[in-house]
Amino acid sequence: MPGKPLMLGEPGCPLCHGQGYVVEPGKLHAVARVCDCVPRCTLCDGLGNREVVIKGVARMGRCRCRVLPDRVALFNKAGIPARHARSTFDSYDPSAAGASANYHIARTVLEQYVPGQENRGVVFFGGVGRGKTHLLVAILRELVMLYGEEVLFVEFSNLLSQLKAGFDQGVGEATTLRPLVQVPVLAIDELGKGRCTEWELTIIDVLISHRYNAMATTMATTNFKAAHATGQTEINLTVYGGSNSASGTPGKLSGPTLGDRVGERVFSRLKEMCSFAPFFGDDYRDGRRGL
Ligand SMILES: [Zn+2]
Ligand SMILES: [Zn+2]
Repeated sequence: MPGKPLMLGEPGCPLCHGQGYVVEPGKLHAVARVCDCVPRCTLCDGLGNREVVIKGVARMGRCRCRVLPDRVALFNKAGIPARHARSTFDSYDPSAAGASANYHIARTVLEQYVPGQENRGVVFFGGVGRGKTHLLVAILRELVMLYGEEVLFVEFSNLLSQLKAGFDQGVGEATTLRPLVQVPVLAIDELGKGRCTEWELTIIDVLISHRYNAMATTMATTNFKAAHATGQTEINLTVYGGSNSASGTPGKLSGPTLGDRVGERVFSRLKEMCSFAPFFGDDYRDGRRGL
């Protein structure tokens, strides 16, 4: 059932705590598997298919026990980095400055998400080590495991090299971009990081425009501020929370803005597609929590 945890494991299982699946770091990506505590389905005897009678007509159909392995398979296609295999809402450290406000922002994004509909995206911005990526991954994990939503996590500079490789191999723009345009939820980590050459900005513009037209959901993190301090009221940003609702600050975000980095065209599209959420607090990457 959408929105309801599957809870197909043993509630007392030390590995999955009843979730029915476990996620571990693989070589590159986080890898999920169905937990050993999940009992063999008695409806289909573990075959995955069974006869169901609908309006007096018997036909073979997929058994509902397939939902869990299907979602596990979806998770394994999401490209979650291995280092974020254990990044969940539960493993986020709420004790650091500003962390509970950040947690609340991310929970709100998840709770407002309606599968199968047009959903507003979000851009988490703030200094390094405040758990932006951790909470972005936590949202993606829930979207897959609660709703069976197809999601894709890409790190900005990897995304650019992936696109460049596609073009260098003579693969057309449409083919190269298709998987990135079509996925219902695309999460871009470290947006604006790197050199941002003219070619890179052009291709990002094409990608974001396509997603805008497809009404697909785009989520992102960035270490760059959303606007110049004096320009906060000049641009129409939708922002979660507020500086008076959290301790800490969005960070020492001097220097260029996200708009300076990705170009005003891309930034202006992002403003239409996404809410901007400042991440508060002190850096706590050193503590290895909330990476
Ligand atoms: Zn288990
Ligand atoms: Zn079954």
